[in-house]
Amino acid sequence: MNNNRKRRYFRYPKKKFCYFCSNKMDEIDYKDVNLLSRYVTERYKILGRKTTATCAKHQRVLTTAIKKARVMALLPFTVGRKLKG
Ligand SMILES: [Zn+2]
Repeated sequence: MNNNRKRRYFRYPKKKFCYFCSNKMDEIDYKDVNLLSRYVTERYKILGRKTTATCAKHQRVLTTAIKKARVMALLPFTVGRKLKG
């Protein structure tokens, strides 16, 4: 039972700094789906700050942008859910 010994969580190296701060972006364009999709899970849930290393300020802007994008139908609210028809 020593299978787990060498098991490592291999992830992308974590950025210590917020992506938007390092790019000096004060506003996040909700039309930038490529960017926004990096901050949602495959089920389009918004990722938390700990996962993305986004600072509090930008996390707030980002959340708003994602929600806006959802309303504008640029991002789905969720997937894998059957709609009543
Ligand atoms: Zn930031």
